[in-house]
Amino acid sequence: MFEDARSRLEAVFEALDIHPDAQARLMQPSLSLQVSVPVRMDDGSLKAFPAWRVQYDTSLGPAKGGVRFHLDVNQHEVTTLSFWMAVKCAVVNLPYGGGKGGVQVDAKALSSLERERLARGYIRAIADIMGPDRDIPAPDVNTDATVMGWMIDEYEHIVRAQAPAAITGKPLSLGGSPGRVEATGRGALKVLDLWVDREERKPEETTVAVQGFGNAAYHFARLARERGYKIVALSDSSGAIYSADGLDVDAAKQDKNKHGSLSKSKQGKPLSGDKLLSLEVDVLALAALENQVHCNNVDDVQAGAILEIANGPLTCDADTALAKREIPVLPDVLVNTGGVIVSYFEWLQNRVGEKWCEEDVNQRLDRLLGEQAQSVLARAEQEQVTYRQAAYRQGIERIAEAIMARGNCQ
Ligand code: GLU
Repeated sequence: MFEDARSRLEAVFEALDIHPDAQARLMQPSLSLQVSVPVRMDDGSLKAFPAWRVQYDTSLGPAKGGVRFHLDVNQHEVTTLSFWMAVKCAVVNLPYGGGKGGVQVDAKALSSLERERLARGYIRAIADIMGPDRDIPAPDVNTDATVMGWMIDEYEHIVRAQAPAAITGKPLSLGGSPGRVEATGRGALKVLDLWVDREERKPEETTVAVQGFGNAAYHFARLARERGYKIVALSDSSGAIYSADGLDVDAAKQDKNKHGSLSKSKQGKPLSGDKLLSLEVDVLALAALENQVHCNNVDDVQAGAILEIANGPLTCDADTALAKREIPVLPDVLVNTGGVIVSYFEWLQNRVGEKWCEEDVNQRLDRLLGEQAQSVLARAEQEQVTYRQAAYRQGIERIAEAIMARGNCQ
């Protein structure tokens, strides 16, 4: 996975004539910490979970990125995700570098108290390398505002001070920002809207299938439906549902809350998760996990365009195959930046002691992401490259400039 990410980087180096010093710095993470987090389980036994925090590059500002709890977490994954965070923050011009954390754990098998002990243990293990000017964790897969609340409490106990800007995605009562929970979905919709507009299409005439039904996917699907898009399919790890006339996203969400999985929902017809990927839709929104479309299933994709809401849902091979078929891909490093943009707004509010209203947050998100996304879309057209190549060029250019501006004498 990390090799995949690096190969994309090398293509950008070549196209932009990036200075060899900056190239050397960007080929590996600047700090990688592996820890073991011991947790007393409810049954009295002790388990030790392997965990990581990686700061890929901090030339543009403190490292920024979420912490995921998942069984597939490993050092390569966290490193790749931290690299993507660095690119992402630079693509939308935030004063941040890239970081990521993860704990290798079956999050769904933990009780609430076990999860809290794990969250606190993780912060104790990485406290020395984090902080509002150093590295700022946030939610990611299987972590949410509740987990961030435990984490900030632990951090503030360690530093013996109020330090709300050390973590974002917190509960509102602890300095969280209105609009943060919906931000990734809202941002993804903004990028889709801009693209649909450039293509001279209308939301009402655009069908969308969404893979995933976590936080980003749900809010994206809900807001896209409100805007007029026809959400014809939704899925979670249990399976998918489909309706050619469009699904009621909130009703599906209620069913999922009630039964624990989408496959038991009464909305639409049941469908397998694989079949969802091969639906003939205008837009396939990938909002689950990485590597979902790969060399073995990319030929089945029948969608008119791909919207990457998850991080890295296409492998490099799949990306190349889609480019050959001229299926446009709106890339993760642009599409899912809404979350980190509103994290930045949260950090700003915490640092100056302000509380912005949701309308204000949404407007600022719209403006910032709108400008940066337009510039990526226009660059792709001007330079005749894919949207991903254009986004990488915009991001890597900014990081390389900051690396070089810091001087040459290491
Ligand atoms: N985990 C999210 C992402 O992958 C948000 C990161 C943040 O808010 O710092 O972009």
